[in-house]
Amino acid sequence: MSIFMAVSIFSFIFVLFVSFIPIACQVSSHDHKTLPIESSLEPIARPIKTQIMVEFQVIKAADWEVPLAGLLNLNDPNAKLANLTDRPEPISIYFYLIKHPKFGAFLIDSGIGESFTKGKDHLLVSSIVASQMNFDKLKIYETTKNFLTKNKISLKGIFYTHLHLDHVMGAYEVERSVPFYVGPNEVSNKQFINLFVQGSTNRLLGENPNLIQLDFGKNQYQVSVLDFFGDQSFFVISVPGHTPGSLAFLIPSKEGGHLLLGDTCHTRFGWLQNVIPGSFTADSESNRKSLDGLKFIASSYKPKYIYPGHQERIVSIDLK
Ligand SMILES: [Zn+2]
Repeated sequence: MSIFMAVSIFSFIFVLFVSFIPIACQVSSHDHKTLPIESSLEPIARPIKTQIMVEFQVIKAADWEVPLAGLLNLNDPNAKLANLTDRPEPISIYFYLIKHPKFGAFLIDSGIGESFTKGKDHLLVSSIVASQMNFDKLKIYETTKNFLTKNKISLKGIFYTHLHLDHVMGAYEVERSVPFYVGPNEVSNKQFINLFVQGSTNRLLGENPNLIQLDFGKNQYQVSVLDFFGDQSFFVISVPGHTPGSLAFLIPSKEGGHLLLGDTCHTRFGWLQNVIPGSFTADSESNRKSLDGLKFIASSYKPKYIYPGHQERIVSIDLK
């Protein structure tokens, strides 16, 4: 290759790179409000003396299959030790119901909307996104609207572990006044990748969603915790990394408590072998620190059940 050719290729790449910077965009262009909140600066380290318990239920919306290299960092020594290589990995899409005796019913993530049961022509995502999402392997068991109607649930809010498409697929069916709570910077952060998903995310969130971005304030801790109802019944945990505003949740219960990891850890293997996600994560270094923070919470609070974002829960008895 001549030097001129090399220079011109370099300038082409440079122009391409520079011209892409200004078009990094938000995950959704819907308006959002910011809710400043007072969070504890330290992870939960002491026994929680809860007077009030929320009811908690896990709903499996669908089974699905995605590449293992997205779910797990296959370069991690523990993944190598287990001889893991990329392959289609069976996963599930879950959403969760919490019922507070005073504040009412909330979901964590939004499950799947009815249009996804009606075939490819009714998808609300763009064709480029659909082509990457392996919808042929999506087997739906429950839609959000059906679940809410048959159980006569009037929602007071939805908390999102994050705004990746597989967590907002039921949002458009939810009544517009219902607050959608997301983590710090989840909407306001701009990334190049969002150029491809913003339209689809907008459509799935539906018209004029009541988006509320929780602002945990500046602190030096990677992981910070919000006692959402102020009665130690439901803790929202900021775990940036997988996405800027990823959230995890700790829900005390009589049986010993539930720790929901969100996609800070998608898989059982990831939690049990301490391996962070692979290519699906935006910031691996930050995801690592957040997973360490959740491990710390798990070791100090000792929840009975731990829920990876996309696979069966781990019962603490499994660990003995
Ligand atoms: Zn996910």
